[in-house]
Amino acid sequence: MSEIPEVVSRLRAAFQAGRTKPLEWRKAQLTALKAMLLEQADDFFAALHADLGKNAAEARSAEITFVANEVDHTLEHLDAWVAPEAAPLPERLLPGRGTVVREPLGVGLIIGPWNYPLHLVLAPLVGVLAAGNAAVVKPSELSPTVSAAIARHVPAYLDPEAVAVVEGAIPETTELLEQHFDHIFYTGNGVVGRIVMTAAAKHLTPVALELGGKSPVIVDTDVDLRLAAERIVYGKFMNAGQTCVAPDYVLAIGDTAEKLEPLLAEVLRAKFGDDPAASPDYGRIVNTRHFDRLSKLLGSGRVVTGGRTDRDRKFIAPTVLADVAPDSPVMGEEIFGPILPVLTVASLDEAITFITGRDKPLALYAFVGSPETKQRILDETSSGAVGFGLPVAHLTASDLPFGGVGESGMGRYHGKYSIDTFSNLKAVLDKPLG
Ligand code: NAD
Repeated sequence: MSEIPEVVSRLRAAFQAGRTKPLEWRKAQLTALKAMLLEQADDFFAALHADLGKNAAEARSAEITFVANEVDHTLEHLDAWVAPEAAPLPERLLPGRGTVVREPLGVGLIIGPWNYPLHLVLAPLVGVLAAGNAAVVKPSELSPTVSAAIARHVPAYLDPEAVAVVEGAIPETTELLEQHFDHIFYTGNGVVGRIVMTAAAKHLTPVALELGGKSPVIVDTDVDLRLAAERIVYGKFMNAGQTCVAPDYVLAIGDTAEKLEPLLAEVLRAKFGDDPAASPDYGRIVNTRHFDRLSKLLGSGRVVTGGRTDRDRKFIAPTVLADVAPDSPVMGEEIFGPILPVLTVASLDEAITFITGRDKPLALYAFVGSPETKQRILDETSSGAVGFGLPVAHLTASDLPFGGVGESGMGRYHGKYSIDTFSNLKAVLDKPLG
């Protein structure tokens, strides 16, 4: 811990010496980052399995390939994204030239969570480096094997003068937050988000807070419910429900719930078998604290399928709860686990009122047939993202901004949005002297 101020000073000296600014340096770092992911994939898979029971297919797509794609997309467009951008001037300033110049901010701090422990520190790192910054990466202590793998491999692949990994828990993060950074990128819960923002305020450091919340799924009466069940199951139960953009609960309109519930049970059986505890595709809860928290939520409704738990193995079966009251415990907090409550609402109006009466979610999903209904949802609700017909996958589109609003966070990243987040957009007016 005593080395933290020294580490940050070293990175700042490298930044100030101009080491991270050249485009060649940035591209070389991104290329090395991708090489690390591909060459060390087996080590990362083993670490993800040790910490989260994550299967290799999910680990490959959601952690390794996701970040590798983000690198490819950034390398393809970086020249254009950081090129000075001409801005039209008002007539009274003519003749003259207006330009927006993107300059790196300096030294960034990335604080990551445990649920996608590789993806959620390396995807922001792609943007931080592409924008020409130095960075400290602080992985989550709750996924210690992945944290150790990051600490082992990053210094071997990336420029150690400009990128450092600091491992640790609250004391180390607190010490990091005492330092002066030029940007702080935090992913995790809102309680710590507030601690991060308070610490950042001391140095007037800009922050991006990627937080969570209860992302609803509206299911209307005029859609293929089998398809809806399949896609909801895909989004909800990957990583045993420990996904920030996972569907949190379903608002089923009219008589949809009674038709949807058996379909959800059927799809779950097809995906994980009669005994999900024996399925190599099904993950585990990260620790006993979260296991105990989730176990208490199982009593919030009638169990349609699932409900089984095994504390020793941190296993909670994929569970669908019906007849859930809006004020029940499972509706009081972000679930962040494999429990899907289904609530009935009489109409679209009631679904919208339900959603707007609560914190703004990170994502809102809807299986609805008519374009008018889609438009009403877009116009009358607020969320970080909207997914019609498919949950979660919007985050894999690098040209869509990713982030939350209100309680689900602030700031955007992915693709070009990362460049803007980690840059100073400098306004330049050039007026001829003549
Ligand atoms: P976590 O417990 O791993 O904490 C995240 C980070 O905060 C860790 O690096 C940890 O060391 C640090 N931290 C914890 N307490 C701290 C303190 N008192 N002071 C300073 N730093 C501290 O992860 P978590 O918060 O349990 O993550 C789950 C939450 O994150 C959920 O709400 C989820 O929705 C959200 N999440 C959001 C996104 C997103 O992209 N928006 C992605 C993943 C998770």
